[in-house]
Amino acid sequence: MIRVGINGYGTIGKRVADAVSLQPDMEVVGVAKTKPNFEAHTADQRGYEIYAAIPDRAPLFGDAGVELAGAIDELVAAADIMIDCTPSGVGAENKSLYESYETSAIFQGGEDADIAEASFNARANYDAARGADSVRVVSCNTTGLSRIIAPLWEAYGIDQVRTTLVRRGGDPSQNSRGPINDILPDPISIPSHHGPDVKTIFPDLAIDTLGLKVPATLMHVHALNVTLKSDVTAAHVRQLLEEESRIYVISEGMGIDGAGKLKDFAHDAGRPRGDIWENCVWGESIAISGRDLYLFQAIHQESDVIPENIDAIRAMTESATAAESIELTNRTLGVGITGSPIGVAETDHSEVEATDD
Ligand code: NAD
Repeated sequence: MIRVGINGYGTIGKRVADAVSLQPDMEVVGVAKTKPNFEAHTADQRGYEIYAAIPDRAPLFGDAGVELAGAIDELVAAADIMIDCTPSGVGAENKSLYESYETSAIFQGGEDADIAEASFNARANYDAARGADSVRVVSCNTTGLSRIIAPLWEAYGIDQVRTTLVRRGGDPSQNSRGPINDILPDPISIPSHHGPDVKTIFPDLAIDTLGLKVPATLMHVHALNVTLKSDVTAAHVRQLLEEESRIYVISEGMGIDGAGKLKDFAHDAGRPRGDIWENCVWGESIAISGRDLYLFQAIHQESDVIPENIDAIRAMTESATAAESIELTNRTLGVGITGSPIGVAETDHSEVEATDD
């Protein structure tokens, strides 16, 4: 079993912990929290051992009725791999702690690319992380772009990607973020930083990105224009994308006209926290003009990187191939939506066997 510790139990960390706990070849050693807030109580109820991320604050946990298993150093020492899910920039401060215990580490997309040996997306460059001691799982937007660029790149070749990213202002719980009533070019300078981030996965890709922020918390929406190297039909592209396990092509009959209905769909289907791990591409939007492909996709920022963190663990420990890991992660989490109105893949734990005891 791969022993996994999670440092930072917020939007990403709590989802990563639950995903790790569903894997037959992994176990959650514990989660590190800075304070005994509602998430600490939930972690306790879910049976995770809780460690003090800031040892001086340990007494606060006892006062709040949350039992601690120890301090962060003990968690790092006990884990084979730490998944750092702390806010942007804090991961860089934690790096030396993980190194001092020779514990491998996965960082998130808020960190600079040079924090780790490789930037990672399971569909696009799984093998870049094989045997690495440190990996950065790229951001929600870069994950969404990488997943859709990979099959287009392989099937048709790409001359140029141009993407406008309409980004949510904050996550639902981030009530200090905005805008509340505005539409912000963000960053105002063009191109945005997203293109260079995608190039950490596809170094030879020509890509320009423009970013905006809007008063929404639900999802990001990308407007993509990809100049392909081959002449193709929209139907061919649609079929190609429908074959991707982490892309959901929304069929016209579903009546899903935006991020709000996508989130309702996920909640109605009983998805944990209403999560949508897949890129959601509107089938009607897939259009071809000459060699230019156009489409819209929605990205659930809180959850699309979760399966990628699980696959990164298997890549780093060299315990599965890309295809094996993606299949196992998809099956255990329930990733995959078909075009049918029933829609959501059954989560099947019955046939899952441990690959490493
Ligand atoms: P978050 O603020 O929701 O959660 C971070 C958690 O870490 C909080 O519980 C916070 O209290 C805790 N924390 C703060 N300082 C800490 C420390 N020193 N040690 C341990 N814990 C500490 O943040 P998030 O949205 O989960 O983001 C985490 C990382 O994931 C960032 O790099 C972010 O860029 C990246 N990411 C976020 C999203 C998203 O949309 N939320 C998507 C993809 C990637």
